[in-house]
Amino acid sequence: MEIAQGAAVEQIYARVFRELRPRTPVPAIQVQFRRYANANAQVKLEDGRLDVRMADTLAAAPEPVIEALAEILLSKLFRRPVPASSNERYRRYLNLRDVRRSLDQVRQVRGHKRVRPPQGEHHNLEEMFEELNFQYFHGLMARPTLGWSRQASRAMLGHYDPSHNAIVLSGILDRKETDRLAVEYVLYHDMLHLRYPVEHHGARRCVHTRAFKEAEKQFERLKEAKALLRRL
Ligand SMILES: [Zn+2]
Repeated sequence: MEIAQGAAVEQIYARVFRELRPRTPVPAIQVQFRRYANANAQVKLEDGRLDVRMADTLAAAPEPVIEALAEILLSKLFRRPVPASSNERYRRYLNLRDVRRSLDQVRQVRGHKRVRPPQGEHHNLEEMFEELNFQYFHGLMARPTLGWSRQASRAMLGHYDPSHNAIVLSGILDRKETDRLAVEYVLYHDMLHLRYPVEHHGARRCVHTRAFKEAEKQFERLKEAKALLRRL
């Protein structure tokens, strides 16, 4: 199937415009691909010009899908009923396995992470970060985004996400019965991930480098903290 790009997309919009408004001269049409997090698109008619903005994730969509989307957007613009077949075709495309998967990936990288703010119900991650920063990093570490995950995962107690520069701790740690020391240790571990990035040795990826492990040993009451986590 053919892939629609720039000029081809303009032609599609011109064609759909003529079908919907046969008596109105077709305006100048400008198509822009934008880096949206979702498969979004919008049209605007302003000063006799039709502005089409589409997520760049749609640039690879086959022509009939781009056309279906044009029918949806222009019908809405002119307050006409959206043809059911266009809705159906566009939705079916978004549901294709590969399309869904690549949208998920884009959303992960570009979208906002859904995390709860650092001031949890029982532990405050910003306050804890500053104390650890002062004690172990001479206060020199720039504070990343901090937050609690919505899922109370036991398998992943925390992680540092370089694409968002964020440290996210599992909601399971924000409980009254969770000792502050256990939370501090998990946070410290993830601060070390920020401090000592992943190293690549050929094809091997080293997440916990030697320097990382040495630094982790500096944590006071390390054994006690690890024992607390085992009991979670
Ligand atoms: Zn780790």
